[in-house]
Amino acid sequence: MKYDVIIVGAGPGGIFSAYELIQKNPKLRIAVYESGFPLEKRHCPIDGQKVKSCIKCKTCAIMSGFGGAGAFSDGKYNITNDFGGTLHEHIGRSQAISLMKYVDEINIAHGGEGTRMYSTAGTKFKKLCLQNKLKLLDASVRHLGTDINYIVLENIYNELKDKMDFFFQTPIDSIEILSDGYRVHYGSDFADCTRCIVSVGRSGSKWMESICRSLDIPTKSNRVDLGVRVELPAVIFSHLTDELYESKIVYRTEKFEDNVRTFCMNPNGIVVNENTNGIVTVNGHSYEGAEKQTENTNFALLVAKHFSEPFKDSNGYGESIAKLSNMLGGGVIVQRFGDLVRGRRSNAKRIEEGLVVPTLAATPGDLSLVLPKRILDGIIEMIYALDKIAPGTANDDTLLYGVEVKFYNMEVDIDENLETKYKGLYIIGDGSGVTHSLSHASASGVYVARKIAEEM
Ligand SMILES: Cc1cc2nc3c(=O)[nH]c(=O)nc-3n(C[C@H](O)[C@H](O)[C@H](O)COP(=O)(O)OP(=O)(O)OC[C@H]3O[C@@H](n4cnc5c(N)ncnc54)[C@H](O)[C@@H]3O)c2cc1C
Repeated sequence: MKYDVIIVGAGPGGIFSAYELIQKNPKLRIAVYESGFPLEKRHCPIDGQKVKSCIKCKTCAIMSGFGGAGAFSDGKYNITNDFGGTLHEHIGRSQAISLMKYVDEINIAHGGEGTRMYSTAGTKFKKLCLQNKLKLLDASVRHLGTDINYIVLENIYNELKDKMDFFFQTPIDSIEILSDGYRVHYGSDFADCTRCIVSVGRSGSKWMESICRSLDIPTKSNRVDLGVRVELPAVIFSHLTDELYESKIVYRTEKFEDNVRTFCMNPNGIVVNENTNGIVTVNGHSYEGAEKQTENTNFALLVAKHFSEPFKDSNGYGESIAKLSNMLGGGVIVQRFGDLVRGRRSNAKRIEEGLVVPTLAATPGDLSLVLPKRILDGIIEMIYALDKIAPGTANDDTLLYGVEVKFYNMEVDIDENLETKYKGLYIIGDGSGVTHSLSHASASGVYVARKIAEEM
């Protein structure tokens, strides 16, 4: 079968490429190959009762399938160049923002109407942060919420499914370069195309590495973010979250001059387990619907670790630390801030007597046995700094779950068209290492689709 365009991966990057291609040229023959399931068949077996932890499904329903890693996420689309990726370094700052806004319009038109857009523009919190050695990053954020995010994906799929060929549970094994295009191989079968867009996200990172090796496409990698997820009563942060929803705040530590930052803030949300290749780490969600909201807010505090030569395996470093917490706690460890600073472990009784009711059943323990001193010191310093703008953050009963790890894909060598050294082979989204978020990944999809439509 010969297609004009083959898209590998149906996460936000792949979906928005497909959407934009068909808008620009409805005659294009497009195929989307996805290793996971269609949206309605994506079910994680962990139910908290019969199945309590990851059973290592062949295809992880959380990370793979239509909607990609973002399908059950909080659906926070941050419109900013300050974080979420470095797309602007390839395509320019104003173009990146305008594409993110366009993605927002599509989400609104497909079920996101009525959801709120928050913004840091003109906020008094910028000054308050600066007065306390904190920096509030600029962003507008559309919070779809896990429930609406799902509806948007469903609506987009219904619009696309008759206009192109979708192949689910069809992981692409390899890409072959032909004289007039590309051949993707899957099982004993293959399909050809003139243009190929690869958007395989975090779950496809190892595969992406192997493809780059086999096609001799240069890559580099040296970063991992490590830290904890903080959970506290929602009222402590409500002045910030009511106005901004998600505030990305950066603190520069006094001791090591490391940057610690807040990440993925979930007002009235829940803390959840995340399973990456069998290693259990922590993450957070929040729902738009009031019936599913809790009295707590959670967010991550992360320290970025950049390594230099000769060490190359930054993700391996993050995995080892996460494995340590799994070894000690059988999964995620939870500790009261008061216990951490007193140098003692938390136990079930202390957690139970605390004022913060945990939303995740984690093992009470001691994070100082897991996280390197430099990272833990940075986190403690930042909690005291945050306490000045949100008094109560450094309360003894504030809960810290560990570890939270943000793995980064290696960065693939792509040009200003997001194209590799092979004409017509594009690598976009988180799989390229250039984006790390829903809005940047989606915008990269629209960008290459427009480039291709212009040429074809
Ligand atoms: C729990 C969670 C919550 C998150 N919350 C947010 C948030 O609120 N806001 C935000 O901005 N970001 C969030 N993120 C990050 C966000 O989901 C990603 O940045 C985004 O999904 C990246 O999009 P992508 O298309 O590049 O990759 P992905 O979404 O990872 O999609 C890649 C797809 O490619 C498929 N694939 C991989 N290899 C192959 C292959 N060989 N053949 C065929 N298919 C393949 C995968 O199955 C997957 O479906 C969250 C992530 C997680 C895990």
